Amino acid sequence: MSSPCVGEGKGRVLIIGASGFIGEFIAQASLDSGRTTFLLVRSFDGTPSKSKTINSLHDKGAILIHQGVVEDQEFVEGILKDHKIDIVISAVGGANILDQLTIVKAIKTVGTIKRFLPSEFGHDVDRADPVEPGLAMYKEKRMVRRLIEESGVPYTYICCNSIASWPYHDNTHPSEVIPPLDHFQIYGDGTVKAYFVAGSDIGKFTMKVVDDIRTLNKSVHFRPSCNFLNMNELSSLWEKKIGYMLPRLTVTEDDLLAAAAENIIPQSIVASFTHDIFIKGCQVNFSIDGPNEVEVSNLYPDETFRTMDECFDDFVMKMDRWN
Ligand code: NDP
Repeated sequence: MSSPCVGEGKGRVLIIGASGFIGEFIAQASLDSGRTTFLLVRSFDGTPSKSKTINSLHDKGAILIHQGVVEDQEFVEGILKDHKIDIVISAVGGANILDQLTIVKAIKTVGTIKRFLPSEFGHDVDRADPVEPGLAMYKEKRMVRRLIEESGVPYTYICCNSIASWPYHDNTHPSEVIPPLDHFQIYGDGTVKAYFVAGSDIGKFTMKVVDDIRTLNKSVHFRPSCNFLNMNELSSLWEKKIGYMLPRLTVTEDDLLAAAAENIIPQSIVASFTHDIFIKGCQVNFSIDGPNEVEVSNLYPDETFRTMDECFDDFVMKMDRWN
């Protein structure tokens, strides 16, 4: 548990969505950074993995605020005031993006929050233009951005690109799945590059930017040069780890568009993002040179990212544990 002086001098953090995939990385990094960390827990719905996550974060010092839904503005305002919160980080899932409108309104009313990070953690939604149904999620993320900006709420948008893993086109949390062991599915000709970032680094760098003045009212792009890879390179790297070659099957642009058009949620959303990344090149077809955007490696040149090589080693270790 936290001692009374933990986090003294650092902004007090409220995390919404810590039982989720990205939220857990953020909460872990917030605790590692020594900040006083509050978690708004929507429900203890009995899901063992979620309860385990929240209990483990609690054991590491997180302070739990139970049974809170962000749709209740008065409730959120009360939390922000009562716990003297400085920084609010939301990691609500894709189906709940608009629930954040109330958080923005509460932050505006309370008026003391120094930074809000909405649930982004992917692409620059003002730039990227995926096909439906991914576009619908981006439209919602854009609505949240516009309300933040109109309300004068201090913000940072995290554009961390792809999570370090095999980029399965039908799985929202691909880093939970072992890369292929029988064949690779290569999108297009496999030459379009993307940036891959370990979940722990998404957390680590998010917590570095939260009170960095250089990131106030800016989008922070994650472009680690060590993890700038296309699918052909990713396949070769994985083959080295497992020690044998795998057949490569091509998934064409039309295949991905057909998977998106099926409109099966959430798989079709992932298919539309996969098309945007590996066919259209949405992570690489622009340079970061606007007045309101910065690249994270430029901000913290002495900090290293975990490499894809190391992340693939983690998968091999996981496989070894199973055998
Ligand atoms: P998850 O679905 O895994 O988790 C969502 C979390 O938000 C859960 O803890 C959930 O609580 C909580 N939550 C949802 N609605 C509310 C609410 N109204 N009030 C309080 N809590 C709420 O989300 P992900 O981690 O998959 O997604 C988070 C963000 O990361 C999204 O913006 C998504 O687009 C992005 N993302 C990026 C990826 C990448 O590769 N770059 C990969 C995956 C996601 P409960 O436990 O009660 O359900």
